[in-house]
Amino acid sequence: MKINEIPTPAYVVDEQALEKNLRILGEVKKKAGCRILLAQKAFSMFAEYPLIRRYLDGATASGLFEARLGAEEMGGENHVFSPAYRPEEIRSIAALCDHVIFNSVAQLRRFGGTVRAVQQERGIRGGIGLRINPACSTQDHAIYDPCAPGSRLGVTVEAFRQALEEEPDFLDRIDGLHFHTLCEQNSDALEQTLQAVEEGFGSWLADAQIRWLNMGGGHHITRPDYDRERLIRLVQHVRRTYGTEVYLEPGEAVAYHAGYLVTEVLDTVENGGVHTLLLDASAACHMPDVLEMPYRPPLRDAGQPQERPYTYRLSSCTCLAGDIIGDYSFDRPIGAGDRLYFEDMAIYSMVKNNTFNGMALPSIWRMDGSGECRLVRRFGYEDFKQRLS
Ligand SMILES: *Cc1c(COP(=O)(O)O)cnc(C)c1O
Repeated sequence: MKINEIPTPAYVVDEQALEKNLRILGEVKKKAGCRILLAQKAFSMFAEYPLIRRYLDGATASGLFEARLGAEEMGGENHVFSPAYRPEEIRSIAALCDHVIFNSVAQLRRFGGTVRAVQQERGIRGGIGLRINPACSTQDHAIYDPCAPGSRLGVTVEAFRQALEEEPDFLDRIDGLHFHTLCEQNSDALEQTLQAVEEGFGSWLADAQIRWLNMGGGHHITRPDYDRERLIRLVQHVRRTYGTEVYLEPGEAVAYHAGYLVTEVLDTVENGGVHTLLLDASAACHMPDVLEMPYRPPLRDAGQPQERPYTYRLSSCTCLAGDIIGDYSFDRPIGAGDRLYFEDMAIYSMVKNNTFNGMALPSIWRMDGSGECRLVRRFGYEDFKQRLS
């Protein structure tokens, strides 16, 4: 089936675009000499994991469920970071993950021994990490800034120093350091962050005990204007200076501009000169980042309001008055039965969707290089009902 024939609403992952991103990431890995993992929280469509695994080293998780998914479907290296682990889950996590990264000194002290023991049984060495907070904000989206004052994410230099004072061989507890501070950023922000990391944590990074540095996600590596040569230089600098391995764990960059949300117009409403299209897709349910971030998703064959002759407000069938995707203009009048194609909808879409108002979950499709679409999964009433009691 072609994309203009499939039932809506639907997420369609463009495998050609996905593989193009993966090829870029594979090239970076090779030139920089680092490892790259998929951050599953951005994109967990495991039907594509075999393709991803051809280029990347494995996956990283935010907790037990994603760690299981990575182990079952990706293979390769399996890492996890969570702001806090539960005592009843830590053994399972250690049994599944090659790297377990802690967010605080207290969590490391509480669970580090258990993780070490389980990993040793599995023959894994060097698998315990600590997330650091370099206190270096490089962006303006406050809700995406782990370096904001009072942030709960990562151990500050002060806390790290205090741990060493309390426990002179504190570094023996860890094998690597991790930071994640970027969001949709270029490598200039990484350069600035690395400077802060080196200033604050450089002497510990240089300790022979520390074998790896994980530089987190938020690197928009596959974006056309991303300066990959600088990223490669920075990774090589870390490897050379500190003798550590380097990991990157992008989410967005893996499936950047590699999917559509296909929707159909159900009705048009006019009020006070505003023409609103009611879609069978919703920002609140199917692309919550549009409201949370917020941002305006790109839409195929449409422009800014008033840029083209026919301007509409795009909204949905939920009861939420603010479930508005944005105002867009078109070359021709749009009405019931027309289809619209939101772009860049592979990331932070499927992983975040919900059935608020009993809205249907979009089906999931894959599109190959010839434009042929194949159904991966369809959802129905039972998927809605079984989560509610
Ligand atoms: C969100 C997150 C990522 C991936 O971030 P992207 O912006 O999708 O690249 C990687 N690591 C950690 C710890 C994260 O929280």
